[in-house]
Amino acid sequence: SDIGSQKERVVTEEEWLQKWEMGNIGFHKEQGHPLLQKYLDVLLNGRSGLRIFFPLCGKAVEMKWLADMGHSVVGVEVSEQAIKEFFSEHSLPYCEEPVPEISGAKMFQSTSGNISLYCCSIYDLSSSIVGKFDGVWDRGALVAVNPCDRQRYASLMISLVEKNSSYLLVTVSYDPNKHKGPPFYVPESEVQSLFG
Ligand code: SAH
Repeated sequence: SDIGSQKERVVTEEEWLQKWEMGNIGFHKEQGHPLLQKYLDVLLNGRSGLRIFFPLCGKAVEMKWLADMGHSVVGVEVSEQAIKEFFSEHSLPYCEEPVPEISGAKMFQSTSGNISLYCCSIYDLSSSIVGKFDGVWDRGALVAVNPCDRQRYASLMISLVEKNSSYLLVTVSYDPNKHKGPPFYVPESEVQSLFG
């Protein structure tokens, strides 16, 4: 599990915005992720009306699924295009407003109020701005974070969850010398050291 070749790699926010502009979004799953269906019970643990966080959310359709089940969904995404596509592709009316605590950030909220997507970097968020969450769906998030930022990302995520929360994490296993990522290879041992 030598991740040496990916350690120094950096994908800038600008590059992510370009991927969205070019429609270079092979990571987007139109049908949603089968692993969320499979582990939904683990995420919910018999609870209803949860606050669920989608870090680096893109336009993940699972946000709509969980909102339709009665949960309240919060996401963060640097691409405004992704956020607008999410609402328009699900025909959801929304409003947008500035986020006073974060300069330049906007919050897009479904008119029904149960989906709030922050357009800014995840590193701009804190629990004083978004509160704490009962559940996290981390797919295409930890594995999309630049390897040099993983510790910062994990510490932030830990600060955003309630004591009795569930965190579903999807990683991908492959030979990091054969692909440059993202998604980056995050070995199990690193998941252990980041999240304990
Ligand atoms: N989780 C989504 C998207 C995965 S791709 C899914 O499952 O489909 C990673 C996403 O993170 C991209 O849409 C990219 O624009 C966004 N992103 C990258 N760096 C970010 C950052 N620092 N803060 C917020 N979003 C970011």
